[in-house]
Amino acid sequence: MLILRCPYCGVETDETDLQGGGQAHLKREGPGSSDDDFEDYLFMRENPKGVHFERWRHVYGCGKWFLAARCTNTLEVFGTYPAQTLEPPQEIKDKITAKRPGWSWGTFQ
Ligand SMILES: [Zn+2]
Repeated sequence: MLILRCPYCGVETDETDLQGGGQAHLKREGPGSSDDDFEDYLFMRENPKGVHFERWRHVYGCGKWFLAARCTNTLEVFGTYPAQTLEPPQEIKDKITAKRPGWSWGTFQ
């Protein structure tokens, strides 16, 4: 079972108290963007077997959205952090690199 710690209220809870919100760190496209960029924003998502960054909502707790870095293959959680964060905190990136040498994904390394 997936267990995540909400970075706002500090509660460690399982996925039955949470609601998944899909991939984190999407670049939002709006008016003025090309059709291809807007289509990618709406429909194209990463689906890795390994390290992934996701949005979660503590729906039966504080109700806030947060982000999580975890491995989709092993359910190992590398950390959670506030939703307003533009990229994963360095300590989480270092933790992932230590456990998955050579890992890289998108613009994060
Ligand atoms: Zn919470």
